[in-house]
Amino acid sequence: MVFGVLADITERKRGEAAAAEMERHFHTLADELPEIAWMARPDGWIYWFNRRWHEYTGLSQAEAEGWGWRKVNDPDLVPTIVARWRHSVATGEPYEMVVPLKGTDGRWRQFLSRAVALRNNDGQIIHWFGVNADITAQTEAEETLKLADQRKDEFLATLAHELRNPLAPIRNAAELLTRMPGLPPSVERALAIVDRQSRHLARLVDDLLEVSRITQGKVSLRKKDVSLVDCLSDALHAVEGALKAAGHEVLVHLPDDPLYASADATRIVQCFLNLLNNAIKFTPHGGVIGVSAERLPGMAKIAISDSGIGIPPEHLQDIFGLFSQVTPALERSQGGLGIGLSLVKGFVELHGGSVEAASAGAGSGSTFTVTLPLLERPALSPADMTHTSHNASREARLHPRRVLVVDDNRDAATSMVALLQAAGHQVREAHDGQEGLRLAFEFEPEVVLLDLGMPGISGFDVARELRGRTAQAAPRIIAVTGWGQESDRRLTREAGFDFHLTKPVNHTELDVLLSMDVPNAEPAAPPVRH
Ligand code: ADP
Repeated sequence: MVFGVLADITERKRGEAAAAEMERHFHTLADELPEIAWMARPDGWIYWFNRRWHEYTGLSQAEAEGWGWRKVNDPDLVPTIVARWRHSVATGEPYEMVVPLKGTDGRWRQFLSRAVALRNNDGQIIHWFGVNADITAQTEAEETLKLADQRKDEFLATLAHELRNPLAPIRNAAELLTRMPGLPPSVERALAIVDRQSRHLARLVDDLLEVSRITQGKVSLRKKDVSLVDCLSDALHAVEGALKAAGHEVLVHLPDDPLYASADATRIVQCFLNLLNNAIKFTPHGGVIGVSAERLPGMAKIAISDSGIGIPPEHLQDIFGLFSQVTPALERSQGGLGIGLSLVKGFVELHGGSVEAASAGAGSGSTFTVTLPLLERPALSPADMTHTSHNASREARLHPRRVLVVDDNRDAATSMVALLQAAGHQVREAHDGQEGLRLAFEFEPEVVLLDLGMPGISGFDVARELRGRTAQAAPRIIAVTGWGQESDRRLTREAGFDFHLTKPVNHTELDVLLSMDVPNAEPAAPPVRH
């Protein structure tokens, strides 16, 4: 009996010695860790910190013990940290928080603080074991990346805007010249080049602007009930010339079902156009392009396939990324910015749809499949549906107007004036806000085409002044500007503008605006013919 008790005590002592030995090993190991480590009692009282803690905070064991560690925490965050820690202690759930800690040098660094409960065989918590890892470098790198990305987005928006300004007068001048009768064929040919290339440039600039809007979350969709089959037909119609030039055969399978969706028709047509243009571009001469649409439950599936160069499997995902190209543009003849597909993805997803690429690999062609949610029943009858291909310009009747053009970019102003004069309007030109106001009162225009950003008196101020003085609907004030976001449109609306056109101006749109009746305005005298 006595022997038995002695044996038990010896056994226990041996067990305790082994535990103490283990703990010493553990502390030695934990002291060598580059991270801060700590241990707490089941009630949350921290009773041990490793060497790194003391080195970093300068707090001794006695100073930090229990709840003393709060001294090196941000006082504003302490209540949250304590509440979070108490919650883990009460529930046994792991603890995790990002906390700033003050170092001996007085600087704060970010730590990812984590703790787990160590339990005995009965599942009772015997200790908490915590580690604080310094994530300052990672946090700073993430911040730097985020900032760089934001700067890139801002740069893109500014770049697109700045490119639009010189493009405006070029497009105006080209438009003016194309309207001139009796040009020698060589001039007509040169003009056709300027016209085509400047249109192309304008499209690239628009794409850049759109993509920067998507990345900044600033796109507002103009949704209406539209037929997706109509959108697809419009896109097909627009690439007819390119398809013919490339010698491709086109196989089209469109259903009788119009596939009505609530969508921004312009953007959807643009998506289909981008996919069709890619199919044409990446298929050697004489290929086959397939276009099909079908109804799935609640969704439309549109597929655009080609027999072209195909896409290696490792690129199928990343081609939708911004500026991503399988072969860099400089190494191939077709050019492009690598933003077409990211626009498609952005717009399709904004509509609640998805886009996927499939290809059996290099040389085996590609298929792009777009799915878009459909309307169960269109709210409008088909006759009321928005037609994406309208020919307003052909219908627009010319009403000679007194027009004042105000733009500090002289080329833009002069080319616009020449264009308007050629169309039979009476036009005056001003190059700053002050002169614009003076001419507005002297010339009494029915329509004012007003640039926004001008030195001195801005276009906004001119519009406010005109509205304030005349208290009538005339003149009609139209903003002509590189800034085309919804927020810019709101600003011009608030300043009293009637319409907002973005540079380079779409001349069909301008013709329509000029042909509309201006309330309270005397019609201009018919242009004098010589
Ligand atoms: P871009 O055409 O201006 O390069 P996109 O974003 O439209 O930009 O396309 C990104 C890349 O995806 C292209 O550069 C090309 O490598 C690949 N790609 C897109 N469409 C096709 C296609 N139909 N066949 C083969 N490759 C394609």
